[in-house]
Amino acid sequence: MATIYINDTKPFPNFLAKSDNKRETFANYCNRQKAKLKLISDQMELEKKDQENLRELRASRNKRKYSLFYESLDLILRHRDEICATARYANIDAHYLIRGGGLYVGPLATARQFNFSGTLVNINLKLSTLLEIWNSEQFQIKCKCGDTAVIRSFSGSPLSGSSRATAICPNCKKESSIGNRSFGKYYSLMLKNIGNDIEKVAKNIIAKWSLAELTYDKKVNEGNASKWSGIGYELYGDGEICDLETMINELKMKEFEAQSRAEEK
Ligand SMILES: [Zn+2]
Repeated sequence: MATIYINDTKPFPNFLAKSDNKRETFANYCNRQKAKLKLISDQMELEKKDQENLRELRASRNKRKYSLFYESLDLILRHRDEICATARYANIDAHYLIRGGGLYVGPLATARQFNFSGTLVNINLKLSTLLEIWNSEQFQIKCKCGDTAVIRSFSGSPLSGSSRATAICPNCKKESSIGNRSFGKYYSLMLKNIGNDIEKVAKNIIAKWSLAELTYDKKVNEGNASKWSGIGYELYGDGEICDLETMINELKMKEFEAQSRAEEK
């Protein structure tokens, strides 16, 4: 006959007393059922579904933009300097255009979301930053056609340092791969640049707020400040943002006009 030993030297964990406890007593359960109260309400489910739909829409939008961007890579690289020097082009969201990650470290976040007092602020990898990353030898490969291809995805291991990367050529549009480069160099270069983008946005907000305070103080000193307004009303952003589609069209128009002018001569 088998004998069952019960070890009761360790107390049974008191789940119900824990602050993060989602379990309830049977009595509570019956009362809740009677009151027709669900732990997760129908409204909560609807909100979850809507958020899921938005995520899906965003993913398919990014897929379309990804294709457009790489189809126009030659045009974009031809205007590299102009893009970096024009704020509305330089600040275009580029987070979905490059993918990286590795064992142990997981996928590299090229978009960061911050919660400030319940307001979500997204800081994404900027187009000018991606172009700068592609300026480094680590993110370039010589293509068979003779042009320089740029790396758009990489993976590897921080322990062995080995990596695998794929690059796209702006000239022949062919994808090639490379496998003998340091994973750490890919990863650290990306991290450094994403960090710089976050710093750029944060410093911009600080500068704009300082300006708002100055403007408000000036108005108060001049006796113009209204008791109805506050410093917050003096805060302004950078103005209208430019999307990738608009930038590509503007660059194409510019090249078309330049060509027309050249033909006229
Ligand atoms: Zn090529």
